[in-house]
Amino acid sequence: MMLKKGSKIYSIINNKCPRCHTGDFFVFPNAYDLSSFSKMHKECPVCKLTYEPEPGYYFGAMYVSYAINVAVFVAVWVACAVLFEDLNVWYQVLASVVLGLVLTPVTFRYARLGWINFFVRYDSSANTNNKVPAITSQ
Ligand SMILES: [Zn+2]
Repeated sequence: MMLKKGSKIYSIINNKCPRCHTGDFFVFPNAYDLSSFSKMHKECPVCKLTYEPEPGYYFGAMYVSYAINVAVFVAVWVACAVLFEDLNVWYQVLASVVLGLVLTPVTFRYARLGWINFFVRYDSSANTNNKVPAITSQ
């Protein structure tokens, strides 16, 4: 899959600011560094976008997280149905729950990045420093 700056998926997959697609969103690149996977920058290190404009901003990210978990559940269900004949239904449930848990840090990150991407658009000029007014004297 070709991912270019400007696509919301680019920001979500690469842990980038939703506005400039250049600055990092989470402080540490590794989602499985469990002591710090949820640590976010306060604002974009490049374009200064505030990542948490109000308290509880990421409450809605739980819906994104829920959607991701449903997708995981369905994927596991289909995979089990295709790969194993007559697998006990509880093994399928167990497999979904285990995979859901294993993916929790990734789901958490994708949910937050997905959520902020609902509200912030990519701005290709945000990652350049040419916001200083042009000199117009003479
Ligand atoms: Zn930015």
